[in-house]
Parts: sequence; structure tokens; C-alpha cells
Amino acid sequence: MLAIDNLTVAYGEIVALHGVSLKVEAGETVALIGANGAGKTTLLQTISGLNPVRGGDIRFAGASIAGASCDRRVRMGIAHAPEGRRIFPGLTVEENLIIGTAPWRRAGASYADELAFVVDLFPRLKERRKQLGWSLSGGEQQMLAIGRALMAKPKLLLLDEPSLGLAPRLAEEVYERVSRIRTSGLTILVVEQNTVLALAVADRGYVLETGRVVLEGSAADLRTSPRVREAYLGR
Ligand code: ATP
Repeated sequence: MLAIDNLTVAYGEIVALHGVSLKVEAGETVALIGANGAGKTTLLQTISGLNPVRGGDIRFAGASIAGASCDRRVRMGIAHAPEGRRIFPGLTVEENLIIGTAPWRRAGASYADELAFVVDLFPRLKERRKQLGWSLSGGEQQMLAIGRALMAKPKLLLLDEPSLGLAPRLAEEVYERVSRIRTSGLTILVVEQNTVLALAVADRGYVLETGRVVLEGSAADLRTSPRVREAYLGR
């Protein structure tokens, strides 16, 4: 579904990604792990079209999207729950969710099925649907960010550090829902510093260090890899 080939991305003189290649097959959940500053967010933002491609290519469903607008990529089926949630604080929970339907919805079209899927997954969003975005807890905001991305009817869901800033129990709760989204058949690329959680939900993973892929393999192999255990699992 997604094929990234020899991708280079830079901020002016600072090269953040040096020839990164990775693949995500339809139906897979793939984790991208790595320390702070490794380039994980840059990679997701480049897939979404927020950063220009300096070299290499990004192919989605067989076609190059390296020059496509963000808007077109969302309409093709790429939805992004960004780092820091970025929910609209002055809009209600329900309005934040409805905004997610903008890429595909014509005036008057129903979004009842998408909303039903999201509130079944995150019942708390239904309870809080009239509350303003700013009043939600960190965990609820994360659920809203994921829910809003799901409202776009994506084929590929990009998740940037869904556990960031959450207490361990809440982070586990968010990942339990990611696991349910995976079971529903959606293709997921998740970026995480919490290696334990990400590798528990993923089929495969890549390790990014200073803008380069240094290791890749099945989630099971990465969990037992000495390099991953030493650098990211603290053992
Ligand atoms: P984090 O977990 O902190 O988000 P990350 O792995 O997602 O880390 P990136 O945020 O992608 O890493 O950053 C990769 C590199 O690019 C870092 O060296 C960072 O300082 C640099 N960088 C990121 N954004 C910018 C920017 N807007 N301008 C200049 N340099 C940037």
C-alpha cells in the first residue's frame, strides 16, 4: 500500500532523513521506533505532504504521491493523527469529529456509519460530545485525534506517538483501541518512543536512528533483538 524509496528530507541545511526506504502492506500495522530527533515525525509529515521531498519517492496504492498536495493525499486515503493531537480547542468533540469528514463529504451526506464506528471504539467521546476540545484530558484528546482521523475514511492511518504524555494506564488504553482498529482491517503506520507498546501491537517494525533505518524485522524479532533491547527497552 505504501512504499517509501530512498527518501531524503531536509530542513534547509539540516538533513532529517537520509535515504529512508520502508514498506507498509495492506492490512499491516507497522511500527517506526527511535529516539527523540531520529526523524520519525518528519517521515510521517512527509507522507502526509507537510514536508517536501528532497530525494527519493513515496508511492501509495501504486502511484507516486511525492508531488501531491496534502489535500489530495487525504482524499486518496491517508489520514494523520499528529503528534500533540492538534485538536481544535474551541470546537466541541462532535465538531472536531465532523471536521474529519471534510475530505469526502458532500453537503447533506450522512456520516452516521463513521461516527458509530468511532464512538463504539471510544465511548467517552460520545459522553463528551458537547464539550469543548480544550476541556478534555490528554487521553481523551488523543482518542479524539485518532477518531477525527478515522472519520476521514482512511485506507492508511498514520499515528504519531499516541502514548506521548499519557500515564501508563491511559497509554495502554489507547493502544488497546489501536489494536481494535488493526483488527478491523485498517492499515496503520505508528511512530512511537514507547517501544514496548508499539511492538506489542505491530506486525513489523523499523528502527530509525539519526534519519536512517538501522534495523527492520517482524515485531517479534525486534522485541528480542539485542540492539533494540539495549537501546530502547532498557535491558
Ligand atoms: P520527536 O520524538 O522529538 O518528535 P522525531 O524522531 O520525530 O523526534 P523529528 O521531529 O522528525 O524527530 O526531527 C528530526 C530532525 O529534524 C531533528 O534533528 C530535528 O531537530 C530536525 N527538525 C525537525 N523539525 C524541524 C524544523 N521545522 N526545522 C529544522 N529542523 C527540524
